[in-house]
Amino acid sequence: MMADWTPLRQEMAIWRDDGLTLPVWWRDDDAAVPTPALDHLLNLSRAVGIPVHLAVIPADAGLDLAALLAGADNAIPVVHGWAHENHAPQGQKKAEFGGHRPLEVMQAEIGQGLAKLQDLFGDRLSPIFVPPWNRVSSGIPDAIAQVGFKAISTYLPRIQTFAAPGLKQINTHIDPIFWRGHRGLVDPDTLLAQLVALLRDRRQGHADNAEPLGYLTHHLVHDDDIWDFSLRFWNELAEGPITPWRMDLDTDTEEVRK
Ligand SMILES: [Zn+2]
Repeated sequence: MMADWTPLRQEMAIWRDDGLTLPVWWRDDDAAVPTPALDHLLNLSRAVGIPVHLAVIPADAGLDLAALLAGADNAIPVVHGWAHENHAPQGQKKAEFGGHRPLEVMQAEIGQGLAKLQDLFGDRLSPIFVPPWNRVSSGIPDAIAQVGFKAISTYLPRIQTFAAPGLKQINTHIDPIFWRGHRGLVDPDTLLAQLVALLRDRRQGHADNAEPLGYLTHHLVHDDDIWDFSLRFWNELAEGPITPWRMDLDTDTEEVRK
């Protein structure tokens, strides 16, 4: 699929002229076991020089994944729920940690997930909680902060820096998969228009440019178009003024709750 990348190049030229820098990060969800698609993801991340935060499903992950990631220092494991199970009644939006079970039960599962992935990955694990389906109920941010997480990541520009005391909100913003349709690549010109609009909002002060701009992928379901777009996306952004974000290098620690 051909796309016109000119609007992005023009926007990034303005960023350069204005002396602005875009913090960026990459989150890929649903890792559990080594697969050819996961190899492809890790190779792509190496090729473009951007680390990939891999949201790992604790209940399904084991030593084979730990062994693979031990040889891939460009992969940063993070915690993706517990078992990626939907507990919402039929007809409601899917959620593993929505308001459908007692908070203590959900908090215990979240703690179990963190402990299991700390065992598997040690210091490599970044204390970021990624709820399946990007959705949690209102008590969950406090519960996951208590368990020891430092950040939560969902989708769309954050409206506040901290979701709970000590718990940063680090969201994702661009998802190339057309989930509600053919599950292939979203029309690339539409994606680029969305990206440029996000960048313009940040540049003009309508959105928080301290939040790293997140690219969200799902390696297990990518077709060639999505892989190609992802490669091009990172190569194009690399031309602009960007800084790859990592939790362990994050210095913006002021806890302000609006
Ligand atoms: Zn998921």
